[in-house]
Amino acid sequence: MLKPFFYSLLIILSACGDGGKNSSATYFAGEIVNPTDDYVVLFSGDVAIDSVKLDNQNRFSFVLDSITEGLYHFNHNPELQYVFLSQGDSLVIRLNTLYFDESLIFSGKGEEINNFLLDRFLQHEEESPMIRALYQLEGEAFEDKIDSLINDGLTDLTDLNKEGILSEKEEKIGRASIVYHYDIFKEEYPFKHKRRTGHKATSKLPDGFYDYRKSLNFNDKDLTYLRPYYNYMINHVGNLSYMACTNGCGNNDTIVRNQLHFNKHKLKFIDSLVQEKELKDNLYRYVAIDYLVNVHDSQENNKAFIDIFHNVSGNNRHMEEINTLYEGIQNLQPQKMIPDVALKNISGQVVSLQDIANDKKEKTVFYFWTGTDRRHFENISKRVARLSSENPKFAFIGINVKTDENNWKALVQNSELDIAQQFRSDDFDTLTKALVVFPLNKCIITKDNMIVDAFANIYQTF
Ligand SMILES: [Zn+2]
Repeated sequence: MLKPFFYSLLIILSACGDGGKNSSATYFAGEIVNPTDDYVVLFSGDVAIDSVKLDNQNRFSFVLDSITEGLYHFNHNPELQYVFLSQGDSLVIRLNTLYFDESLIFSGKGEEINNFLLDRFLQHEEESPMIRALYQLEGEAFEDKIDSLINDGLTDLTDLNKEGILSEKEEKIGRASIVYHYDIFKEEYPFKHKRRTGHKATSKLPDGFYDYRKSLNFNDKDLTYLRPYYNYMINHVGNLSYMACTNGCGNNDTIVRNQLHFNKHKLKFIDSLVQEKELKDNLYRYVAIDYLVNVHDSQENNKAFIDIFHNVSGNNRHMEEINTLYEGIQNLQPQKMIPDVALKNISGQVVSLQDIANDKKEKTVFYFWTGTDRRHFENISKRVARLSSENPKFAFIGINVKTDENNWKALVQNSELDIAQQFRSDDFDTLTKALVVFPLNKCIITKDNMIVDAFANIYQTF
């Protein structure tokens, strides 16, 4: 659910196309069973180009006078999925939010490539345990298996296109969604194989193992927001950085584990490999967010990183987001006062986060949940019940995000949770900027309103 903020990657460049050849409008419509939001939003790249409200039968419909053929995505909070659109398409979807991707079906003009991309996506999810098991194999056997999966996928694509129903761009996207997806495993192989087998060093790879890299294209605008392509680029940059560092910076593990140093390698590779501005900005952004959110480096190192980042990518299209995140993290350092965010209690009164912190208890732990992810809510409720009984000196305070008020009340009242310890925020954007609510299992520990650890984890810290 936090994807739109942190990993809002996805989909192509918009703007109105020439539309000259074909004046017929493009329709994209559908029905959503068990809606989780009132709207469907259509994105081109990271830009929302249109949004429509569901009618009283939970139907929506976009009519687009002129569009550029390519990959878009639509969002029905908290989920999002691709849709490939060409001028004159007339696509209808049906989906049930309880089984989002598994229930989604496209029909109408333009359905072929869309159902193909969706099938690939589902197949890739289903295959992943099998692929993880392949990392055990030696290089040649691993390579053979992956190559045969690529060939199977490409054969499916050729079969689909026997009668030439796909446009050139559709064929290219279909192909890339297979090839880049599987190439990711080849990038990961040396490391995963080493870990799985317990070998000390990465083993020697078969000749030509990396041959697929010769046909890489770092500058294909049509692919910028295709997930396998983007994920491939992230892995590739990580792999090159690791190799460059172990071979060039003293050949020992300690230097690679220095995250500030290692992430500098990544920034350098992105700079030298990628020219296409949007992909470049997105990859830089990925590195920045990954480093700032996941490494929890010292304040001094964070500062050094952000200075370098401004140097290499000063005109990044995501700069405001990255600066906000950096400031949020600086404000959450140990010994600082917890930010004063407004929340609402069960009676609808506005209260400040600083007033909620329980000064009768030794420490206060703030944790987060959302009504749109029931399993997460059930798990975290059980976890908190257990932690509360094991740690009677701590107060555990739940903060709900992205759930409407009535729904939230019903969930809290039907749970085992102490309603006096439950609060919600109407304004997820402000809350997450101030408290950096990512991942959702993070928790913030305070003592007398001073931060002890703002990046603890409800499942791991205690
Ligand atoms: Zn290095």
